[in-house]
Amino acid sequence: MKKIIQNPRGTKDILPEEQKYWRFLFENVQKSMDVFGAQRIETPIFEFAETYIRTIGKGTDIVDKEMFEVRHLASPAPETLSEEETKTMVLRPEYTAGIARAYIQNGLINLPQPVKLWYFGPAFRYERPQAGRFRIHNQFGLEVIGDNDPLTDASIILLAFQTLRKLGLAEAIKVEINSIGCSTCRTKMKKKIVEYFQDFLEDLCNDCNRRFVENPLRIFDCKEPKCQKIIDSAPQLIDLLCDPCKKHFKEVLENLDALEIPYNLNPRLVRGLDYYTRTVFEVFLEDQEEGNLAILAGGRYDNLIELLGGNSTPAVGWAGGAERILNVIKNKGIVIPEQKLTDICLIHMGDKAKKSALALIAKLSEADFNVTNILGKESLKAQLRSASKMGARICLILGQREFIDKTVIFKDMENSTQETVPQEKLIDFLQKRLK
Ligand SMILES: [Zn+2]
Ligand SMILES: [Zn+2]
Repeated sequence: MKKIIQNPRGTKDILPEEQKYWRFLFENVQKSMDVFGAQRIETPIFEFAETYIRTIGKGTDIVDKEMFEVRHLASPAPETLSEEETKTMVLRPEYTAGIARAYIQNGLINLPQPVKLWYFGPAFRYERPQAGRFRIHNQFGLEVIGDNDPLTDASIILLAFQTLRKLGLAEAIKVEINSIGCSTCRTKMKKKIVEYFQDFLEDLCNDCNRRFVENPLRIFDCKEPKCQKIIDSAPQLIDLLCDPCKKHFKEVLENLDALEIPYNLNPRLVRGLDYYTRTVFEVFLEDQEEGNLAILAGGRYDNLIELLGGNSTPAVGWAGGAERILNVIKNKGIVIPEQKLTDICLIHMGDKAKKSALALIAKLSEADFNVTNILGKESLKAQLRSASKMGARICLILGQREFIDKTVIFKDMENSTQETVPQEKLIDFLQKRLK
């Protein structure tokens, strides 16, 4: 017997029974983004590795360990390749850098600023296999490019709140926030941090020793208990902010207060990607099964566009993890509205009726009715049962007699009444009835 092929580790199928959750999430995200005035953007699933190396930075797990290379399997000899073809391409590990690349390349700077963009789709990271970790995970998020107003930072956090509230997750949300300053404060911070950590190098883990050389700020991201202890007494970054950064952060917090968004100032929060500046934040949900779960994170990235070769352009954004949020929704038992699949179901009895049913469906679809028929079921009872499962409000029954008379039976599924309607008057009839 042939061996059955399995899906790769860290991937999963999202089967039809799961789709109502995904639709629920997508539709609510879309609604929030529409109200905020953000427009959807889709960037390629793969980009040049440079897009991420220059922006997320070497020394991060994403760039050093987690990217998937994309290669043409039948690659010819290297000397026959164009320069572009020799560049490493990777599956996107996140969206922000690719969107910034698209903003520059497509001249979105010429639109009224800020440009508000949102996205929803898969990102790829080579995670160590463990429960709940996937190598393909779906992200949704928002980028507001071309604005450095502290009010924007607060209003995108508000939008995250509103989105989660629409999903039924309002009461369990916590926001942690910090500021990591601009390039000017960063120089001062690095100096202070190096001074502090160099006395502890022997006690820090290997990764932190590497971070100490490459980017000492990243030591704050370490999850090792022995490093955590040392980090606890390290100088606080907000004490090292330059005056403009201090003022900016103060205003972000004042705006959050004014919007009545509860937050925790977390001086240890440093999002380890190179492109972040000033405001950084993470949103946590209290999950019965998993405890405190980071489900959404973001911040300001005033240097990102410049890192990719564009003009200096401030920006701020966040990204949420779809799988994690859906898990919480399921664990909390939040009831998802059932998706209505169709308004009208055409039921046919006998071969002749079956053939003319398709023509009737085509006619009704052209008139913009949401109509379908039941496949693979013969008896009237079985077809009616399927129609009711699909949420049809109306069934049109086309039997042998109706076929000959050129009529259909109109059956109202809500009050179970029925009447016979000539086929030529059907569209008018349905238009009146469905209003
Ligand atoms: Zn600064
Ligand atoms: Zn460490």
